[in-house]
Amino acid sequence: MTDQTATETTELDPGRRYLVPVARLDLPGEPDVVHLALYQWLSRLEAWVTGLALCGTSTRQGALPEGTEVTCPGCQAYEPQYQAILDSQATAAESELEQRRRRVETGNTTENAAWCTVWLEGSWRWITSRMSTPQREYAADCVAAYDRYLAAVDGDLGHGEPAGLRWWREAGR
Ligand SMILES: [Zn+2]
Repeated sequence: MTDQTATETTELDPGRRYLVPVARLDLPGEPDVVHLALYQWLSRLEAWVTGLALCGTSTRQGALPEGTEVTCPGCQAYEPQYQAILDSQATAAESELEQRRRRVETGNTTENAAWCTVWLEGSWRWITSRMSTPQREYAADCVAAYDRYLAAVDGDLGHGEPAGLRWWREAGR
């Protein structure tokens, strides 16, 4: 299965755009061909929609069944360029996700895990009140890094810091 034949039956990523076959408008004089159009998720409409055909022609809304042959010469001519752009966008998005995952992965250290246990099980505020600010910032960094790692294991890559972790920063406000 390739992206260009993706339809509703396929598991589509709303963050990505695809190329799908689309039907011509039912108007006299319209060449009887199958076009190719960009297919993207519009969160405003909460729906997958097709845009103009690659050749610039208006088409009927909605993707034709997967595997429908594209017969418009204009769309065929543009397809490689569009596919290359979509592929590079997908690769960029994936590598960004991969980088974030790797950054989070570095938080999985024994030291961070130890500080996270202090945060979870100890009296964090009292313990860190006995430290200098650079020391407790360091301890909080360890907790935050391990907490991010734990969240990422659960699939959450946009995890923020636990509330109250750096209480000394909040105290001055
Ligand atoms: Zn076309």
